[in-house]
Amino acid sequence: MKQKFEVAIIGGGIIGCSIAYYLAKEKMNVALFEGNQIGSKSTSAAAGMLGAHSECDEDFDVFFPFARSSQYAYSQLKEELHHLSGLDIGYRKGGILKLAYNEKDINELRSTLSQHTVKWLDKEAVWEMEPDVSSEVAGAAYIEEDVNVVPTAVCEAFAKSAQILGASLFEFYPVLDIQKQDNSYLIQTATSQVEAKHVVVASGVWSTTFFKQLGLDHQLTPVKGECLSVIDEKATLKKTIFHDHCYIVPRNNGRLVIGATMIENDWNERVSLSGIDSIIAKAKTMLPTVADMKMDSFWAGLRPQTFDQKPFIGHHPEEEGILFATGHYRNGILLAPATGQMITDLILKRQIKSEWVEAFKIDRHQPLLVSR
Ligand SMILES: Cc1cc2nc3c(=O)[nH]c(=O)nc-3n(C[C@H](O)[C@H](O)[C@H](O)COP(=O)(O)OP(=O)(O)OC[C@H]3O[C@@H](n4cnc5c(N)ncnc54)[C@H](O)[C@@H]3O)c2cc1C
Repeated sequence: MKQKFEVAIIGGGIIGCSIAYYLAKEKMNVALFEGNQIGSKSTSAAAGMLGAHSECDEDFDVFFPFARSSQYAYSQLKEELHHLSGLDIGYRKGGILKLAYNEKDINELRSTLSQHTVKWLDKEAVWEMEPDVSSEVAGAAYIEEDVNVVPTAVCEAFAKSAQILGASLFEFYPVLDIQKQDNSYLIQTATSQVEAKHVVVASGVWSTTFFKQLGLDHQLTPVKGECLSVIDEKATLKKTIFHDHCYIVPRNNGRLVIGATMIENDWNERVSLSGIDSIIAKAKTMLPTVADMKMDSFWAGLRPQTFDQKPFIGHHPEEEGILFATGHYRNGILLAPATGQMITDLILKRQIKSEWVEAFKIDRHQPLLVSR
């Protein structure tokens, strides 16, 4: 007999797993289909910064409050998910120091510094906080509230908690096709067919396939990011440090995550020597002591980018039962709780801030590409 669900989610990255969790909490009958292993794609590559302030230097009216609501949700989720799943999401306080070396850097930090939760520190204050930071710094914007988590741990905790609350998770089940059938949809995998009233496409950068299949010409562009981790035996670094798209994030297990390159339109998930070279060089200018640390690991992942770098969260313009939650680009870890909540509210037809619905809807204005 064909299995029936209220909601089928396609994709088991942090976005799909968060949606499964929030829906399962509402006692919805949910199934999640993941083509590989849960959390093994972009989610596993992320550094885990919850950079509501550090990633937002414009759009303070819409994107920032959405990101802040998600960041705030984590402060409660860490206990909630631990209580349900027994898993620790690696929530680590300390915040981010956005380093400035010269006037140009200081100018670039002006809009970040205009937020009342961000403080300017002169170089002496930076060295007092982080004695090993480069002697070349002029100061830093200190963002105490931009904490970090371990992305794979969050994803696993969402998935396990959703399952405990009744969600069905199917790993190594790529979805091949979605077809409409009266008031529901048929989800076709290689070995089975299931029926669902709502379908949520949360397939990261691979969501383009489903946009096409469902009659939309939306495209997501991969922005490849390469990272490495080193062992900080003396556990010297306490806070994340950040400069010129490069960051060093301390984890609770004594590792420092160093990232990340930004290579547009590269679908190859392998790490390049030149990529690793470039981030090591940048890391040494921020924290010279990394040069002596021992290598732990390296990896790459594909950030799903939309035309305006904001996610698509909303209904298909013509198919009420199909929803998209994808295109979270550099901020999927940060935005996962708010996205899970928003999709749940959309399915349950609850009130949502209209500016969020407008900003993230699928058929928002897309500038026409002018061919030259
Ligand atoms: C180097 C790097 C550093 C980053 N650092 C941060 C950070 O510090 N903070 C932050 O907030 N964000 C960060 N990000 C961004 C973040 O990782 C992404 O925005 C987020 O992981 C996107 O999650 P997702 O669930 O949409 O995608 P994914 O994690 O890619 O999950 C999508 C899933 O869908 C599955 N799938 C695809 N097609 C199908 C199909 N047909 N059937 C079934 N399953 C399918 C895939 O196998 C995959 O598991 C970083 C990204 C990179 C690459």
